[in-house]
Amino acid sequence: MSGAPQEREAAAARAEALRREIARHDHAYYVLDSPQISDAAYDALVRELRDVEEAFPEVVTPDSPTQRVGAAPSSQFAPVTHSRRMYSLDNAMDFDELDAWLARVRDVVGERECAFVCELKIDGSSLALTYEDGVLVRAATRGDGRTGEDVTANVRTIRDVPLRLRDEARPQAAPWPGIVVRGEVYLPLSAFERINAENEEAGLPVFANPRNAAAGAVRQKDPAVTASRDLATFVYQVVDARRVLGLARQSEALEWLRRAGFHVNPDVVVCASADDVRAYCAKAVEKRVELPYEIDGVVVKVDSFALHDELGYTSKAPRWAIAFKFPPEEKATVLRDIRVQVGRTGALTPLAEFDPVTVAGSTIARATLHNADEVARKDVRIGDTIVVRKAGDVIPEVVTVIEGMRPEGVEPWRMPDECPSCGGPVWRPPGEVVTRCTNVACPAQRLERLEHWASRGAMDIDGMGTEIITRLVGCGLLHDVSDFYTLDEVTLAALDMGRVKQDGTPVTLGPVVAAKLVAAIDVSRTRPLSRVIFGLGMRHVGSTVAEVLAEEFGSIDALTEAASVEVPAVGEGVSAAAALAADPIARVEGVGPAIAASVRAFLGNPDNQELLARLAERGVRMAEERRGPSRPQTLTGLTFVLTGALERYTREEASAALKELGAKVSGSVSKKTSYVVAGTDAGSKYDKALALGVPVLDEDVLVRMIESGEPPDGAPAAGGDPSADTTG
Ligand code: AMP
Ligand code: ZN
Repeated sequence: MSGAPQEREAAAARAEALRREIARHDHAYYVLDSPQISDAAYDALVRELRDVEEAFPEVVTPDSPTQRVGAAPSSQFAPVTHSRRMYSLDNAMDFDELDAWLARVRDVVGERECAFVCELKIDGSSLALTYEDGVLVRAATRGDGRTGEDVTANVRTIRDVPLRLRDEARPQAAPWPGIVVRGEVYLPLSAFERINAENEEAGLPVFANPRNAAAGAVRQKDPAVTASRDLATFVYQVVDARRVLGLARQSEALEWLRRAGFHVNPDVVVCASADDVRAYCAKAVEKRVELPYEIDGVVVKVDSFALHDELGYTSKAPRWAIAFKFPPEEKATVLRDIRVQVGRTGALTPLAEFDPVTVAGSTIARATLHNADEVARKDVRIGDTIVVRKAGDVIPEVVTVIEGMRPEGVEPWRMPDECPSCGGPVWRPPGEVVTRCTNVACPAQRLERLEHWASRGAMDIDGMGTEIITRLVGCGLLHDVSDFYTLDEVTLAALDMGRVKQDGTPVTLGPVVAAKLVAAIDVSRTRPLSRVIFGLGMRHVGSTVAEVLAEEFGSIDALTEAASVEVPAVGEGVSAAAALAADPIARVEGVGPAIAASVRAFLGNPDNQELLARLAERGVRMAEERRGPSRPQTLTGLTFVLTGALERYTREEASAALKELGAKVSGSVSKKTSYVVAGTDAGSKYDKALALGVPVLDEDVLVRMIESGEPPDGAPAAGGDPSADTTG
């Protein structure tokens, strides 16, 4: 009940006094971490303010501490356009990259003095806070940097966010200008652990890291939930500080933020020299483990705002700041098991399974150990305490074993003799590190091979997913990828999906899906050659390599032919360069010996050749679609090798011209070579031709041959005129 005007005035004054006092104690407690009164006394102040505000609702102000937790307004999460774009930061992944940035700054600054501000890079999520008339009116997430989300109601609940700026920070004798500050909202580790413990107890999912938990808390539907999460902030920027507050440096802005009541990180340091910056970064790496919150680096900023203007921005980030990222974080944990997985290519891969640990911001429990050698080299044994980290902060890896903590009696680990998938024998090719299941019908491989063939990046058989493939394998309709092309609508429609309807009749695929699948299978017959090569799932042959091979060889036959060339092994008398030069696949740019060896192993396997023959027979495109031959194919069946320098043509032109006439052009001499064309300074290929008795042609013969389209004298396979005089 509101009383007389004087009473209301007195109540308003009392409420204002209480608010200021409470705000002062909030600041002392949440920002300065040095409470000045007992909890009971503080509670008494809050209770009195509540009572006054209840009696005189008209005296309630939005910045009253009683208003931190309110109902979620309809504007919650509405888009907010940032007054100035929120840029991200460029990263320096190590000290060299940090030095490179310092040097770039030095280039612009020249002889002038240049101080830096070093700040911890808080691993939370960023916020922009807008104050009008000194009162918090809006809080927004970063979003895409231009537009964020309105999270005002939630951010109000964060106790170290001032609802009103402190008067001592107000520019003299002026009303408050509009002010926008930016900072990071984060979850202290203690709160993170508490929340995860509570969630676990309640059977709710746990957060992978404090950053995710903080971001989630800021985007809660109910501000009361946000309030219960104990979020905190560090504020590090005043937008347009120079124009709005007349400040000249980042260090002054931080000082102003402190005075205004914001929580500014205490570890901020102004460094006069590049050496001091490096020292700060080195120290932060050590400090990291002691902090009660997570940081993922150091942000180094040029202090002077005038220099910010000179340095400017890239399209993504300011040039006047850099984020120095920490080296990968390492954690100790216990190895529980080494599981062996069988991959699509039959490779057996040992996988470390360990007690989950949080590393570089997320929880990991598994890491590949790559192969038996790697396990032996690190001597990783089940039960060991191991050190793990994320390579490049992404891929989990086992760094080392702490041998002093090895339990008694644990045995060295051995690769199993049998495939864990099919029980078939495993084999480790001499000189290779990978152990493989040699059983072509190994189900682990079969399913993966079939799925890979049908997958989006390969033959893209729309609708042919894991479940259907599994059923088709189960019913004996699919053994290898060529079987896809034997499937018909009737068979597919009747496919038993291994489930029953309510009335007990089996669920079948049905005619509609069957018709679609048959159409999709048919479409896949005309996929480009590169998809076919990729779809075969040869080791090391990803989609890029597959494209290169398709482009270079143009057909499976040509690729098989190239794969049949005998390549000398590197060693006694054979240099790596010589072996490479003799390998028509390896020397293709972007391929190399390891990929070539894998292609040879695959195409050299008679079972696989049979598979390819079946695919061709069933209408799968096995050659690049080429423009129809413009010249009669008079050189079909002949294989040429070009060596030495030609005058009339480049080697590429000569090779293209020969191919246009149906010839094959190979990079190395073998018994299958029909002719070697030798230009000037012909080298080892010439010698090899002589040794193998392969006829050698000179450039004149080549020119005549290309111009006339006639094969050279005495050509064995093609239908040229053997009487023509082509001796040169
Ligand atoms: P990034 O997301 O890696 O591009 O890094 C930029 C982000 O780092 C900013 O959007 C902030 O959220 C965050 N950050 C944390 N601490 C600081 C700080 N002291 N100064 C600037 N940005 C910071
Ligand atoms: Zn197997």
